[in-house]
Amino acid sequence: MGTRAKDGKTETLTVDRVILAMGIVGNVENIGLEQAGVKVDRTHVVVNEWGETGVPGLWAIGDLAGPPWLAHKAMHEGVIVAERIKGVKGVHPLDTSKVPGCTYCWPQVASVGMTEAKAKASGRKIKVGKFPFIGNGKAIALGEPEGLIKTVFDAATGELLGAHMVGAEVTELIQGYVIAQNLETTEDSLSSTIFPHPTLSEMMHEAVLAADNKTLHM
Ligand SMILES: Cc1cc2nc3c(=O)[nH]c(=O)nc-3n(C[C@H](O)[C@H](O)[C@H](O)COP(=O)(O)OP(=O)(O)OC[C@H]3O[C@@H](n4cnc5c(N)ncnc54)[C@H](O)[C@@H]3O)c2cc1C
Repeated sequence: MGTRAKDGKTETLTVDRVILAMGIVGNVENIGLEQAGVKVDRTHVVVNEWGETGVPGLWAIGDLAGPPWLAHKAMHEGVIVAERIKGVKGVHPLDTSKVPGCTYCWPQVASVGMTEAKAKASGRKIKVGKFPFIGNGKAIALGEPEGLIKTVFDAATGELLGAHMVGAEVTELIQGYVIAQNLETTEDSLSSTIFPHPTLSEMMHEAVLAADNKTLHM
C-alpha cells in the first residue's frame, strides 16, 4: 500500500488489512435550498443551536446540519426541533461541546468536551488528572488492565472541561462525565462523589482525584 504524507513524501507499507474512513457530505444539491434562501457551507445546511436555518418554517438536523456526525446528536436535534415546532416550553438548545464521541473498536475510545490541547489553547489555566486501568481491581479481574482515563479541569473554577478514555467499556462509562458536564459539576463535587467498589467507574473518580495528586490506588 502506498501512502503520501502532507509534505508530499511517499512511503510503501505492507499490511494485512486497510480501514478507510471517509467524511460526510450533505445531499444539498438540486433540492431548492438556494432558491429558498437557505445558507449552505461546504454541503452542510447552516443552522443555529435550535436547528433553525433562518428561513421561517425551514429547519435542519443531523448530519446535514454539520458535525459531530453522530446518531445521538441527530436524534437530539430532532427532538429539539419537534418540541420547538410544537411550542413546548423549556426546551434546551443543542450544545455541541457536550456531545460524547465514542469509537467501538478495541480498545474502546470515548470522550466529551475539550482535549487537553484545546483547553490549553483556549488560554485557561488547566489541571489534568490521569489514571491507568492497571490501578483498578475490576479492570484486572476482567483481564482488561490496559487503558487510561484523563480529566481536564479549569484550574480557576473547577469546571470539568473534558474527559477522555481508552479501554474496556469506556463507551458506557463516559456518560458519567457527560451528566457531570451537563449539570456543570465541578472538580470538588466529583471528588466528593462516592463511586461503588469494585467497578470500572472507580477509575473515573481516581482520574478526578489525580488532577490534585490525590489518587488513592497508584
Ligand atoms: C458505517 C457508519 C457507521 C456509523 N456508526 C455510528 C455509531 O456507531 N454511532 C453513531 O452515533 N453514529 C454512527 N454513524 C453516524 C450516523 O449513522 C449518522 O450520524 C446518523 O445516521 C445521522 O442521521 P441523519 O438522520 O442526519 O442522516 P441519515 O441517517 O443518513 O438519514 C438521512 C435520510 O435522508 C434520505 N435522503 C437524503 N436525501 C434525500 C432527499 N433529497 N429526499 C428525500 N430523502 C433524502 C436518506 O436516504 C436517508 O434515509 C455511522 C455512520 C456510518 C456511515
